[in-house]
Amino acid sequence: MYCDLHTHSTASDGTATPTELADLAADAGLSAMALTDHDTTEGLAECGARCAQRGIQFVPGIEISSDPNLGRDATATSDERPPLGTLHILGFFVRHDDPELAHIHQRMCDARNQRNPAIVDRLRQLGIDITYEQVQALAAAQGTRVIGRPHIGEVLVAQGHVASMPEAFDRYLGRHGAAYVRRDRLPARTAVNAIHHAGGLAILAHPVQLGLQEHARLQAFIQRLASLGLDGLETHHTDHDASMARSCEAMAHALELLTSGGSDYHGARKSVQLNGQRVPMAVYDRLYAAWQNRGGGTSGEA
Ligand code: AMP
Ligand code: ZN
Ligand code: FE
Ligand code: FE
Repeated sequence: MYCDLHTHSTASDGTATPTELADLAADAGLSAMALTDHDTTEGLAECGARCAQRGIQFVPGIEISSDPNLGRDATATSDERPPLGTLHILGFFVRHDDPELAHIHQRMCDARNQRNPAIVDRLRQLGIDITYEQVQALAAAQGTRVIGRPHIGEVLVAQGHVASMPEAFDRYLGRHGAAYVRRDRLPARTAVNAIHHAGGLAILAHPVQLGLQEHARLQAFIQRLASLGLDGLETHHTDHDASMARSCEAMAHALELLTSGGSDYHGARKSVQLNGQRVPMAVYDRLYAAWQNRGGGTSGEA
């Protein structure tokens, strides 16, 4: 009995619709799944309905891109260097229609809509003849309103400017790529509070992506997130090797945090399989029990 608590649908940058994703989850033998699209709850109702038909426990989720520089938060100490990597916070068991999550969705769409054309401008300066209209058309054809770098990457691949999505990120779209443009990110405190407001649990996604090599620094960073209200961390993820997973479990234990795990399935866009992490249902059961203990989303906190 397995669960997969980190997946993306066409509501953000996955390639399976929410219904298709539920079907794939059932076919992969999963007993529970979470849909955690980037900065949107749009796919949750559809995926939840299909999961109910297929007899799978459904966790309505979200993945919020946050600013790894916690310096603006009160718990900061002056000598801490912020991580240079990525801070994504998962929300589990969130209410689909929470106004604070809707507000975040709008703010993140605005941030992407400012940045995305700037990326295309840079690509054009580099002599790559694509247009933002092509990116928008591709995203619209896939039914998403959250346009991200993967959609730009797909246009680059489709027009033969690069051979693959990894190459698109390495050469152009990634942090060290020639067309990288930063976008506005949400303070972590705001993300955690919004998830709690929506009745959910806040879980640090793929801690390895923070780019903190030393165990002690990573643990100190997670401890600061815990002081902002973080409820748990993702120990098992496609980007984690066995030693990172063990490290995360030790930190969760030390900091009395919940644990989670998932594949971060994006459909055809990444070579990741649903249920690739073989996360036991006990992980889901503990998260569900913790959420129930909080009142099961009957009251907003924070
Ligand atoms: P955005 O949120 O628009 O900045 O796009 C970030 C998304 O791009 C991530 O959530 C991943 O799904 C995807 N991504 C990031 N790095 C890579 C990579 N090296 N290869 C493929 N996809 C990536
Ligand atoms: Zn993604
Ligand atoms: Fe992520
Ligand atoms: Fe993800």
